[in-house]
Amino acid sequence: MITAQGLGKTYPDGTRGLAGLNLKIEQGEFVAIIGGSGAGKSTFLRLVNGTIPTTDGQLQVLDCNVPDADPSDLRKLRRQIGFIFQQFNLVKSLSVMDNVLVGRLGYHNDLAGTLGLFSDEDKRLARQYLDEVGLSAKYHSRADQLSGGQQQRVAIARALVQDPKIILADEPMASLDPKLSEVILELLKSFNEKKKITVIVNIHVLELARKYASRIIGLRGGQLVFDGPVSSLTDEKLRMIYG
Ligand code: ADP
Repeated sequence: MITAQGLGKTYPDGTRGLAGLNLKIEQGEFVAIIGGSGAGKSTFLRLVNGTIPTTDGQLQVLDCNVPDADPSDLRKLRRQIGFIFQQFNLVKSLSVMDNVLVGRLGYHNDLAGTLGLFSDEDKRLARQYLDEVGLSAKYHSRADQLSGGQQQRVAIARALVQDPKIILADEPMASLDPKLSEVILELLKSFNEKKKITVIVNIHVLELARKYASRIIGLRGGQLVFDGPVSSLTDEKLRMIYG
């Protein structure tokens, strides 16, 4: 699904975000990326999604050779990847339903998408996933009338209507209290298991990473310092990751 070899990212101002990363992530894995602030976690997700260009090494995501991809290849890649953000990134003035339909835009040409010409099938999928994340009563609410936890569930439904092969989540619980964080991770875990969607989530709360992920990747200073099952994450390894 994802293969990185010597993957690196140096930002235009010279800051090194990531260096010499080697890893392989297979279909259906639930991976947590941990590490202190500035370790390179977001950089990695943004490289996988093609949001920022790589500067070194190789990166293959699904059938896309990311460093060589043109804008059309990247659009095709992003259609297959759902991205969940810390701050939800909903369009606040739109309804819950319309926010979820945004996830179908990648399947339409630009004009149809701009005009909001969604098919009955698009709408059926949007309702299905809103029901699955427990928001059947909220189809027509404005996004900004929802609580944080509900908004993040809309964002998950928006990712799911894309019919993604991969979901990338960048600290999706950071704006939520601990109980709601677990609801979000439970949902991601259930879709990982039911639909075999590969999930990669940046998590700063170690206990949540341990509880939900099967594999942990530890980054520090832009370098991979741990990659293994939760069971092998010893105190010594944690010191390597967090210092
Ligand atoms: P994390 O997600 O683990 O907190 P990031 O991937 O955001 O870490 O950042 C890794 C490093 O890259 C940090 O030193 C950060 O300051 C730097 N960085 C991130 N984005 C940019 C950018 N747009 N321009 C310059 N440096 C950046």
